[in-house]
Amino acid sequence: MTEIITADERQTQDVAKSIAQSLKPGSFIALYGDLGAGKTAFTRGLAKGLGVTEPVLSPTFTLLKVYTSGSLPLYHFDVYRIADPEELIDLGFYDLAAGDGICITEWAELIAEELPPDRLDVFVEYTDEADGRRIKTVPRGGFKEAGF
Ligand code: ADP
Ligand code: MG
Repeated sequence: MTEIITADERQTQDVAKSIAQSLKPGSFIALYGDLGAGKTAFTRGLAKGLGVTEPVLSPTFTLLKVYTSGSLPLYHFDVYRIADPEELIDLGFYDLAAGDGICITEWAELIAEELPPDRLDVFVEYTDEADGRRIKTVPRGGFKEAGF
């Protein structure tokens, strides 16, 4: 497990950027944290780290956005509005999670049973400082811990 406190969004993006450097094709990242904690900000940094040039916005209504301009395809899920895990099948979630791109999922706690066993769990939490966030990473299964 690693833990770091970031002072602003830029630092959160930088943490994610450096994690991106160590990702192998097929990596899965599960993001946990309250509304406004910084899950999308983290994803934005990860995307930049992969060289994605498109703007990264939260896919809250579409549940999935795909970015193909980086070194690996990035599949960005936000399952906040998922009504039934069955929707994941139509989205291609299981195929994409088993594929060679990078998957990142906001609100992973809502689909805890569906997550692949080999993954990086990332918890983004508020701190007492207005713009401070605690970022904890926990590798699960065969995921090799990213250093930053
Ligand atoms: P979530 O996707 O978790 O709902 P967002 O990433 O959309 O959250 O929003 C996070 C908000 O918090 C943004 O407005 C961002 O600028 C702000 N923010 C303030 N401090 C931080 C920080 N240390 N890390 C990330 N975001 C921060
Ligand atoms: Mg978000």
